[in-house]
Amino acid sequence: MMFIVEFGIISAMEKILIIGSGPAGLTAGIYAARAGLSPLVLEGMESGGQLLQTQHVANYPGFPGVVKGADVIGAMRTQAESAGVRFVMDVAKSVDFAGEVKRVSTLMGDVYEARTVVVATGAGVTKTNRPGEAKYFGRGISACLTCDGAFYKGKPVVIVGQGPATVGAQRYLERLGATVAAVVEPSAVKSFVGDAAHLTGVERTDGSVVDAAGVFLVTARSPQTAFLEGALERDGAGHVVTKDGVKTSVPGVFAAGDCARPRHKQAVIAAGDGALAALEAQEYLAGLG
Ligand SMILES: Cc1cc2nc3c(=O)[nH]c(=O)nc-3n(C[C@H](O)[C@H](O)[C@H](O)COP(=O)(O)OP(=O)(O)OC[C@H]3O[C@@H](n4cnc5c(N)ncnc54)[C@H](O)[C@@H]3O)c2cc1C
Repeated sequence: MMFIVEFGIISAMEKILIIGSGPAGLTAGIYAARAGLSPLVLEGMESGGQLLQTQHVANYPGFPGVVKGADVIGAMRTQAESAGVRFVMDVAKSVDFAGEVKRVSTLMGDVYEARTVVVATGAGVTKTNRPGEAKYFGRGISACLTCDGAFYKGKPVVIVGQGPATVGAQRYLERLGATVAAVVEPSAVKSFVGDAAHLTGVERTDGSVVDAAGVFLVTARSPQTAFLEGALERDGAGHVVTKDGVKTSVPGVFAAGDCARPRHKQAVIAAGDGALAALEAQEYLAGLG
């Protein structure tokens, strides 16, 4: 049941509200639904999460061989829907976790009230914040190899990043027929240059310019937790700080997956966290009576 308030709807009290629809959020949903908690999931802008960005998952149990990330997350979504999980296409904008009733306000102007909340908002690309990046993001700069790599067949591209991930990225792009003109560490980028419509290259801090039709950011992933500012304890990088697995600084609020994992950002670990968060939420609700 929903009630109309001044700027949108305020939900009837949810037993459990899950923020995020990646492996952590969907698994929390499956466990909570099977426990009879009728969970509601706020999907966010990236329904399904990061796994949608890869064509090669070879380490998720139950999926032998190499499968598309979309197949893994699609199966989880189907399982969640048939378990009775409810989904809303909206984004958490701010939260109020001060009282026993937790409130989450969304981009659409709605307010959700819940006894327990699972934060499962994952991680996103770390931008370089160099001049030109905002202008050309989506116009030559991409953070998704599998989404955009194929556009650069026969064209020069630059990889911005460091570490082993850049080696895999280079192999992948070359297999698609792109020419990797340079691999540049984020600290060596001075600016992204281009014309009115599109990126044309990367200016390095030594003043040289590498011509490129595309740039791929292969940088570390940052937790998507800015909307929790002041409400939950977070570390310097923004990960939600947890103890005993998924418990946050606020009783009744749990954090699962990449948003709470400074290390080992992996789908199966996120799914495990999601299951644990739902079980802990169940125990917390039982304690409320
Ligand atoms: C290219 C690539 C390849 C990968 N390959 C593998 C692999 O082979 N094996 C493996 O185990 N892992 C792999 N990973 C890592 C894996 O995808 C992540 O560890 C996993 O998806 C984390 O799950 P999560 O549920 O914590 O977060 P995510 O998958 O990041 O999902 C986060 C969810 O939160 C939502 N969200 C974010 N902010 C908000 C908000 N404010 N309000 C509402 N919703 C919000 C998003 O829309 C999304 O649905 C890969 C990642 C990438 C990028």
